[in-house]
Amino acid sequence: MISAHTLLSPFDLESKSLLTHLRCPECGKIYDASVVQTVCNNGECDSSLFAEYNLDDALSKDILIGRPANMWRYREFMPVTEPENIVTLGEGFTPILPLQNLQAIAGDIQVYWKDESGNPTGSFKARGISAAVSKAKELGIDTIVTPTAGNAGGALAAYAARADIKAVVYMPALTPKLFKDECRLYGAQLIEVDGSISDCGKLAHADAVKNGWFEVSTLKEPYRLEGKKTMGYEIAEQFNWQLPDVILYPTGGGTGLLGIWKAFDEMECLGWIDNHRPKMVAVQSDSCNGIVKAFHTELNVSEFTDGGFTIANGLRVPKPYADKLILKVLRKSHGNAISVSDADMAIALKEIACHEGMLIAPEGAALWHAFKQLKSTGWLHNGQTVLLLNTGSGYKYLENLS
Ligand SMILES: *Cc1c(COP(=O)(O)O)cnc(C)c1O
Ligand SMILES: [Zn+2]
Repeated sequence: MISAHTLLSPFDLESKSLLTHLRCPECGKIYDASVVQTVCNNGECDSSLFAEYNLDDALSKDILIGRPANMWRYREFMPVTEPENIVTLGEGFTPILPLQNLQAIAGDIQVYWKDESGNPTGSFKARGISAAVSKAKELGIDTIVTPTAGNAGGALAAYAARADIKAVVYMPALTPKLFKDECRLYGAQLIEVDGSISDCGKLAHADAVKNGWFEVSTLKEPYRLEGKKTMGYEIAEQFNWQLPDVILYPTGGGTGLLGIWKAFDEMECLGWIDNHRPKMVAVQSDSCNGIVKAFHTELNVSEFTDGGFTIANGLRVPKPYADKLILKVLRKSHGNAISVSDADMAIALKEIACHEGMLIAPEGAALWHAFKQLKSTGWLHNGQTVLLLNTGSGYKYLENLS
């Protein structure tokens, strides 16, 4: 019989998670990972918590040889202790594709897409939600709630269905219909909210406290980050352990950006990569560009910024919970931050569809416009390798695109 275990080779079943504890990256306080945790409770700290692993025992990257092509191939560095708690739909190990017909525009800069659109439920949210739902199952949670701009809701609904856990999803009413339909089809309770994801977050939190439900709001729960960090492991493995020079990332709550950077830290500890790090670039929508503004004014926190509707609903995050951590990574990596208008995203999306055969999400399309901007201003250099992360499929957005 085929079971979830078949997705992991028998060899993997013997390998154990090396999770040791959680740590606050701001104040250093340590937390027990064997019980439910949310954010740092040290005074006013309130920071997201990061999972830590025992990386001292010099594991060889040869452990990966022959493992299945999904994100659980990195299971030593994943937070789930018992394999039977892994809730998987085959997420991860998405392709890295060189730019084809538009490479001429990029000239001597080699451009690649990491294309996350083939993940279950059509976005990279599947990674974070697979990890969070698996760990929630391990900790005995029976109801999970999330505020969402769209894709996280669909992913939570699907993985909760698979785990036989109840899901409640809070989504802005202005989100395209398909994002709502999929949640209902997966059997989640959908609550439509007039406003942005911030308003959804407040309601979700109030209901969770009242009913004793578990919230997996971006970076207020430690394990979605662990799922998204697998993109960093894959980028290293797929580029044969030589990281690209620049990575552009469409930044909403910033989980992927922080996760990729965390993976680089872990792999450097393991000796799997050297200390050459990509410059990390946060790309936002003009309507929600708080990180871009903070980055260019040398601030270490962002201001609440909500200009309303954007076709890139995943980027309508007025105030990322982990804004301080995002800004630190951008600066540490000598990166950049840039925002893009809806009109430019729509043009870029069509250009990629017509010339590359990829119907990418508007969030991903924003990167192609940002790439051209950064090239024309001379911030990018000939000879560099640049990776663009297409975080989702364009299909759910079509009602706003044609
Ligand atoms: C959620 C989402 C983003 C933003 O991801 P964060 O990790 O929250 O920054 C980008 N693109 C798409 C398609 C999304 O669904
Ligand atoms: Zn703290």
